[in-house]
Amino acid sequence: MRFHPAESAFFVFIIVILAAGVVTLHAYDYLQTIPAGAVDPIGGARVAYLNRLLSAIGVLVATALFFGVFFIYPLIRKQVREEKKLRAMTVSLSARSETLEHAALTDALTGMQNRRYFDDALREYIGEFKRIGRPVGLMILDLDHFKQVNDTHGHDVGDDVLKAVAKCLKGMTRYHDVVARLGGEEFAVVTPNMDAEPLARFAERIRNAVAGMAVMSGNVRLRITTSVGLAVWDGKEPAEDFYRRADRQLYEAKRMGRNRVCA
Ligand code: GH3
Ligand code: MG
Ligand code: MG
Repeated sequence: MRFHPAESAFFVFIIVILAAGVVTLHAYDYLQTIPAGAVDPIGGARVAYLNRLLSAIGVLVATALFFGVFFIYPLIRKQVREEKKLRAMTVSLSARSETLEHAALTDALTGMQNRRYFDDALREYIGEFKRIGRPVGLMILDLDHFKQVNDTHGHDVGDDVLKAVAKCLKGMTRYHDVVARLGGEEFAVVTPNMDAEPLARFAERIRNAVAGMAVMSGNVRLRITTSVGLAVWDGKEPAEDFYRRADRQLYEAKRMGRNRVCA
């Protein structure tokens, strides 16, 4: 059994008081060994006075012991128990807040980062990359005719398609890329340190991979395509404008017939 420091300190305190009690008892016993005739009347009065003093000290020591054991110790125990409870509560609360924070930034269906995470990350990346003067690429993807998938095969199959696309995106991106589901059937990839040309090649590879994927859901096997809009940060625009430029390119890709990349 492990004791709280306050309990250990209390035990030391009690041992000291006990020792004081033993010493007092010893002094009292010692005083009794003085024979009655060995001292004159004044000495006898002093011995009697010392006897009373030692008795009083004995009573005080006994009272301190009694008070310590029956009042102070229970208070310390109570404090220790409350402190333990509080600590356990703090641990579970911080674990809970971590879980909540994780949930607040994660898309429940695909396990990807969500829109909120994406917005913050985009802002942070462009702040950081402005400092080091490196490019930041942005890719926005929207699955083509996804409503038809739901209408034809049902929402669950649609969900499986979203999960498959998420898995494909996660598998094709690098560790420091931000891959997020922005909502519905729309995804985004932030590609730090990538300018227009490699970004276009990368986007084309992703578009191709999605188009080549056969999604299995129950006994349904289907194919899906995606349109992609690209932009490279111009070094000064705010994140919202950067996003809007990529989104306009996505719109352009849809307008031009889908299953393509526009930059
Ligand atoms: P477009 O090629 O122009 O993008 O057409 P679309 O059908 O993909 O686009 P539209 O915006 O008309 O439809 C998007 C559909 O995505 C509608 C909605 O039912 C579906 N959707 C949104 N969120 C989810 C989801 O979490 N699960 C499933 N299964 N479907 C979703
Ligand atoms: Mg959409
Ligand atoms: Mg769509």
